[in-house]
Amino acid sequence: MPEISAYRILDVDNHVYNTDAIPAILNPHWPPLMSRSSPRADIAYQALRQAIIEQALLPGAKLPEDHIGAHFGMSRTLVRATLARLHAEGLVDARPKRTVTVAQPSLDEAREVFEVRRALEREVVALVIRRWRPDYGAELEGHVREENAAKARHDERVSIRLAGEFHIKLAAMSGNRLLERYLGELVSRCSLILALYGRPHSSECAVNEHSDIIAALRRGDAQTAIRLMDEHVGSVERRALLADHSGEETDLGSVLSRYAQAIEARQTAVVLPTGKKRQAR
Ligand SMILES: [Zn+2]
Repeated sequence: MPEISAYRILDVDNHVYNTDAIPAILNPHWPPLMSRSSPRADIAYQALRQAIIEQALLPGAKLPEDHIGAHFGMSRTLVRATLARLHAEGLVDARPKRTVTVAQPSLDEAREVFEVRRALEREVVALVIRRWRPDYGAELEGHVREENAAKARHDERVSIRLAGEFHIKLAAMSGNRLLERYLGELVSRCSLILALYGRPHSSECAVNEHSDIIAALRRGDAQTAIRLMDEHVGSVERRALLADHSGEETDLGSVLSRYAQAIEARQTAVVLPTGKKRQAR
């Protein structure tokens, strides 16, 4: 019974806890609406999520509640809510003694994630080609130019983020929001898997493969586009699961400061009415 083992986690260090805390971390549907009421928690969530996806925080890194709470000036309840959100997305693990760490998916779990991702990416391409518009081509090509620029200046963190965003952009063009959400989650998990099993700080997405997919989409060649995407995700998986990762020391405080500052700066910079950005392409 999963509930029992969740409570056993609470018992190991003989402290009395607010008993809704740990089960909440293990419950993927909780909390439903935290970010509306707490901008601090939202910044903490985004900072942690981005730091994990960009491999600034590596699998296994500890995320102590008190450290995060002090850093963002948040209550324990809000810290737990933030960690619960990340847990629901498969980005953190809840361990005994209430230790939360950046998730370390097993090799089998990693293979499962890639299997589902391959299936969904094929579906994305099939849907995008049906709804294709020439401005999609321009948008994707613009994105690939950014990817090439980041690679040229050896900006690995940005390369990792842009590689994932290429796939999420395509998913958004499919017009299916559920598919976009699921794929977004899988791309985040793949980034974590790359951090764990791939070369350190590597996206493993070959940018020329993205270009080939766009060219097939532009030609309206569904069969080739789907095959190229399938081969591309297969290559990412092979590269991702090829090597062991040695692990690296990271300072949680400095990583959180960096990401929180960047997110806050972005939030204060957004003064345009919503929807403006999408129209301006
Ligand atoms: Zn890719």
